[in-house]
Amino acid sequence: MKYKLLVLIIFVSIQSSFCQVRINFGVDTLDVNVVSAIKFYRQYIGEFSKGTKVDYSKYYSAEDCKQFKTPDKMAFSLMGSDPIYKWGKPTIISIKQENKCVHIKTLFAETDSLKELTVYYICNNYVGFDKTMKPYFINPMSINIKQWQSATNRNVTYYFPKYHQFNKVRSDSLIRKITQLEKDWNLAPIQIRYYFTDTNDEMQIFKGFDYNFGMGSTDKPSGLSDATDNLVFSSGWGENYFHEIVHLYLNKLHPNSPLNEGLAVFYGGSLGHDLYWHLHRINQYLKVHPEIDLNFLDKFYYMDNLTNPNSALKALLCELTFKKKGIAGLKKIMTYNSLDEILSEEFNVKKLDGDKFFRSTLQNY
Ligand SMILES: [Zn+2]
Repeated sequence: MKYKLLVLIIFVSIQSSFCQVRINFGVDTLDVNVVSAIKFYRQYIGEFSKGTKVDYSKYYSAEDCKQFKTPDKMAFSLMGSDPIYKWGKPTIISIKQENKCVHIKTLFAETDSLKELTVYYICNNYVGFDKTMKPYFINPMSINIKQWQSATNRNVTYYFPKYHQFNKVRSDSLIRKITQLEKDWNLAPIQIRYYFTDTNDEMQIFKGFDYNFGMGSTDKPSGLSDATDNLVFSSGWGENYFHEIVHLYLNKLHPNSPLNEGLAVFYGGSLGHDLYWHLHRINQYLKVHPEIDLNFLDKFYYMDNLTNPNSALKALLCELTFKKKGIAGLKKIMTYNSLDEILSEEFNVKKLDGDKFFRSTLQNY
């Protein structure tokens, strides 16, 4: 998933602005429940400008707070730890009263000095009311999941749309990998909720978006892990997306390791393909791009939308280590905090020899 974020950072110049939430013309705001819901919504959006952690218990239903430590699953689903409500200017484009709650649809966008419009996303928020008419948000997932089905296998509970028939064989294959991972790394099982769809657009709609800048362009399998609540969101991989599961188990062991993404790619591939497939493509690409200097690996994070070369080359370091030293080697390599250190200590590659090292190693794949 890191790949997508990096690319977006290039294309999107974000100006943080916590302005007033505007209401578009034509939106009826006369009803007393609607007035209360808008006030509540504005207050919530304003919370993200304070820079402190939002107290979700003040805003979300008791049911959602019981289910999720962070019940707003849209807030951090597009740019990691940067809340999406910081982007652009919010305009409420429709308000409807449905099933005793107020459904607010908001466009987050902004114009530049030439009045060119950049649209970040359109999201849906649902405001319900308790017996005292105090408002609270309902996570769109909690509404949408009523149309889904679920199945549990060992420590993984799957949630998926009705059109899908649960594939136990694929799920068993995932469970085998998880069991081995726990054994190798001496870890207890984690209770995981695993949401999956055929396409990324469906997943975004499930979370509460009508549109965001990541939709439409993602036709490849993709996923996202949520370590706060031990969730996996995956599209196009069915029951067997190991990559995000690896993040849930291993990221917390060495949060400062530069290889966390590489390790997940080593174990679970990325963008629908295994590591070897990506390494082969990178090798071909580098042959016609001698100007790319792999001594500065972090600058080589984009080649096309099928392969993230940065995470694949880091996965290559995991692969080489595993082949030579097994799990013990992998455990050690994750303890370093810098790539330079890893290359010099574990691969005997001195500064500025990295380009030669990666290019010659790739020849063998
Ligand atoms: Zn990842």
